[in-house]
Amino acid sequence: MQYQSTRGHNAAVSASEAIVRGLAPDGGLYVPQEFPRADLEAWRGLDYPQLAAEVLALYLTDYDPAFLQDAAQSTYTAPFSGKAGRVVPVAPGLHALELWHGPTCAFKDYALQLMPKLLVQAKRNLGRTEKTRILVATSGDTGKAALAGYAGLDGIEIAVFYPNDGTSEIQRLQMVTQAGDNVAVYAVNGNFDDAQSGVKRVFGDAEAAAELAGRGICLSSANSINWGRLAPQIVYYFYAYFRLVESGAAAWGQPVDFCVPTGNFGDILAGYYAKRMGLPVGKLICASNKNNVLADFIRTGTYDKRREFYKTASPSMDILISSNLERLLYHLTGDAARVAGWMAELAEKGCYTVDAETLARLQESFGCGWADDAQAAAMIRRRWEEDRYLCDPHTAVAFCVAEEQRGTAPVAVLSTASPFKFPRDVLAALGAGVPDSDFAAMEALTAATGSPAPESLRCLQQLPVRFRESLDPAAIRAAALR
Ligand SMILES: *Cc1c(COP(=O)(O)O)cnc(C)c1O
Repeated sequence: MQYQSTRGHNAAVSASEAIVRGLAPDGGLYVPQEFPRADLEAWRGLDYPQLAAEVLALYLTDYDPAFLQDAAQSTYTAPFSGKAGRVVPVAPGLHALELWHGPTCAFKDYALQLMPKLLVQAKRNLGRTEKTRILVATSGDTGKAALAGYAGLDGIEIAVFYPNDGTSEIQRLQMVTQAGDNVAVYAVNGNFDDAQSGVKRVFGDAEAAAELAGRGICLSSANSINWGRLAPQIVYYFYAYFRLVESGAAAWGQPVDFCVPTGNFGDILAGYYAKRMGLPVGKLICASNKNNVLADFIRTGTYDKRREFYKTASPSMDILISSNLERLLYHLTGDAARVAGWMAELAEKGCYTVDAETLARLQESFGCGWADDAQAAAMIRRRWEEDRYLCDPHTAVAFCVAEEQRGTAPVAVLSTASPFKFPRDVLAALGAGVPDSDFAAMEALTAATGSPAPESLRCLQQLPVRFRESLDPAAIRAAALR
């Protein structure tokens, strides 16, 4: 399988090359040149690691299959407590695909526990010996998931920059207590945009790159535009479908709808790959919060980021530019020049409109909707009171949209974070009193619901804080060059 840019047909590259590079040289994203065929009959009985190895082998064709099997085995068993791809019935015809049983309690673990291994192996495949330094600006979940994935790996260093006044207490402690000799964590005096702009400037800084190259270091990013982050997410759509069939919730071959709490469009796009590979997927329902730029786009064909930005209770979906949408536009049109044109319009004017045919194709596969914080909070309460199902604010947005958009097919809602990652918001939604500290709130949530908090979150209070440095945005460059 070869990969090409969404913006031009420059030389196609191998999977290893796409993973080492991240972005294509023309600024586009790497996409596979075709959709490999799924072997549903052969796959339906596999366990999660076996299925992951099968799916990945179809895309990462220059990797040794034995390596992929080992990597999938070590990634998706113990670190996920044996609960990778777990599907739970919630109400008649409605299911939750719980993706938060990994080490950092958010779905990003599926990609970020595996992708570091893929990157190390890609460098071996290509005979590359330089050190890779990963820079991450994070508003919360990505930073910890990346730290946990890259810590302790040979030939890799990682530096994470988070906004001093932007993360929850738990999210901050998850990062500053991270173990490992190859990790560094910095608080940036400012908000997420300050941290992100500072890191982006380093990536665009030719002098910085030259200086690092002189020391044998090459910069890389861990964000979701890398093919190595997208590919592992395809697996759980297949796995969930097989479990729904096994439990009798869906007939073999019957389409299932998936409703996905969406920000950067990576998670839901993985579902589109599964569909194109032959999985019986009905609609992929894109759920947005009040930052509803994607819901508007799927409804109207106009993507317009010129709108107010809201900070919501589902912060991982607070995004106005969904990078991975570019991959979908390419697959819908097969026309890199047209995609490049829309992306140029987005950069220059802040908006673009796709043609009627592309919109019709988009709407064949995708539904959409959005919910604000109050609706999501009411949903957390209702799910608990009616179904005894406890969900986090991101998942609650998807439950709201699933309810509004669902047809007759069974629906699986992707549950992307543990409710215990946002214990204060969840408690408030349940109508309970909310203590000041996140840890007291975790205990109160356990007391109110009988659900235990994940050990990886509870133990944070006892772990030593390793990183206390805070710096101004202007000092990000110097820290990145250390
Ligand atoms: C990142 C994230 C999302 C959004 O996923 P995308 O792939 O960016 O669309 C949703 N929920 C949670 C909890 C997340 O961490």
